Order: sequence, then C-alpha cells, then structure tokens
Amino acid sequence: MPQAACADIRAITTVKHAKKRECEECMKIRARWVHLRTCQECGATLCCDDSPNRHASKHAAATGHPVIASAEPGERWLYCYPDDAFAEY
Ligand SMILES: [Zn+2]
Ligand SMILES: [Zn+2]
Ligand SMILES: [Zn+2]
Repeated sequence: MPQAACADIRAITTVKHAKKRECEECMKIRARWVHLRTCQECGATLCCDDSPNRHASKHAAATGHPVIASAEPGERWLYCYPDDAFAEY
C-alpha cells in the first residue's frame, strides 16, 4: 500500500471484497443504496455516504473499524474514516 496513506491502510495486506453485492443493513429495512463499500476489519458490505442511510459511515463510527474498500466494479481504492486517508491499490 502507498506510503502516503495512513497506518491503518498500510497495515492491509489483503483487500476484503464484498461477498454479496448488497448493503446488509438496507436489505433488513428494504431501503435503497447508491454505492457499496466493504469494511476491511470485518468484511461487512454497506452503503456509501451518497445513500440515504449511510450505513458504512455509521458502521465505522459505531465499531471503530476504520478502513473501507469500494465494492463497486472497476474501483480499486481504500478509505480510512478517522484519518480521512485515501489510497488506490
Ligand atoms: Zn487510518
Ligand atoms: Zn445501507
Ligand atoms: Zn466492520
């Protein structure tokens, strides 16, 4: 991972990918989402900040899991919430 990224991103050796292309939390409440993100700590796939429920941000705040990866096809990047750090891989 790039040296410019934060320690959380640099610590990731294998990027976790979405098991299913859906937001786990939106599925429970039958909500819609815009983009999907996968938590790099626990592998949960949740919706982005453009989505009405912003489940990925809420998950990061509630659990302290800092880094997500985009789960969108063709996108290869990581983002760390506490450090506001971004890295392509
Ligand atoms: Zn970080
Ligand atoms: Zn969601
Ligand atoms: Zn998580």
